[in-house]
Amino acid sequence: MTNWETYVKKLTPYVPGEQPQNPDVIKLNTNENPYPPSPEVIKAVSGFDPELLRRYPDPVCEKLRDAIAEFHGVKRENVFVGVGSDDVLAMSFLTFFAHAQRPIFFPDITYSFYDVWCSLFGIDYEQIPVAGDFSILADDYIRSSGGVVIANPNAPTGLAMEESELLRIISAHHDEVVIVDEAYVDFGGESMIPHIGEHTNLLVVRTFSKSRALAGSRIGYAVGDEKLIGYLMAARDSFNSYTMDAVTQCLGVASVRDVEYFKKRVNDIVEVREWSEKRLSELGFSFPKSSANFIFATHERMPAKEIFEALRSRDIYVRHFNRPRIDNYLRITVGTREQMNKLFDELKEIID
Ligand code: PMP
Repeated sequence: MTNWETYVKKLTPYVPGEQPQNPDVIKLNTNENPYPPSPEVIKAVSGFDPELLRRYPDPVCEKLRDAIAEFHGVKRENVFVGVGSDDVLAMSFLTFFAHAQRPIFFPDITYSFYDVWCSLFGIDYEQIPVAGDFSILADDYIRSSGGVVIANPNAPTGLAMEESELLRIISAHHDEVVIVDEAYVDFGGESMIPHIGEHTNLLVVRTFSKSRALAGSRIGYAVGDEKLIGYLMAARDSFNSYTMDAVTQCLGVASVRDVEYFKKRVNDIVEVREWSEKRLSELGFSFPKSSANFIFATHERMPAKEIFEALRSRDIYVRHFNRPRIDNYLRITVGTREQMNKLFDELKEIID
């Protein structure tokens, strides 16, 4: 085998949840928002000036960064945008960790893309076991490393970490970058964005895919110290300057500005989540308290894989991870009340 082939063959790519093309499937497997994006987004797309398609898009995404900066009360220079938070995270791993002298740390049970980027970029890493109840213990991270990545709330468990515990980790690593992946924080937990001023090693990564119902548009961003953002821009411009297209930049601005709609939909999802937790308990499931738009549930009698397959045959898709420690759990995205009612009816039949 040639050298390049030996390297490429070692990669184990990330496996995204299935995207069935059948519109009748109840899709509770990829943590998408069950509601449409803001009506302002639809208006922005339908009124989009086609002349702007002829030209290259704004490479530094000024308008979108300004809108995000205003929303969070920071400056444009504190905001980096990318094509989904996967793009932002990948660029951050490349920028801040690819030349680390020591392994970077992240939990053994977390977003399964982190170790994939490490393999791609040749980054050494250590996966630190979460406790039996899936909580992340800050003490385990207070030692020398090349950097730290924590999803808060964590995926796929849905558990949020205390702000003070995260701050202990961030303070202990002032010479390395600590990434806090806040893909789900709008549904619960505390954002670390207010701390970027006092902690210049902190990079908070966010997405429009969940709380803003724009998974199809691919918008993610990072908020951090100007210096970190400047390095991210330099790395991005050494790779591909025009990552985000003009239509996406425009609809992203419309989404951020519609604060009222955003808050309403987040509340709707949190309400359905809380009601769903009660229903799941009645059916014999248990789960860590969710701070996200999904519930990570295990059943007292029936193996998760069997429930997963039975639901799938009834056109209800949830996510099952065939991995140690979590293979008896299902990650169920919170859908609309109607979708969840259908799920509970089917679950009742399957379990009985
Ligand atoms: N981080 C976490 C923890 C996630 O679960 C996801 C969704 N798969 C992402 C980042 C990436 O989301 P996106 O690329 O759609 O912004």
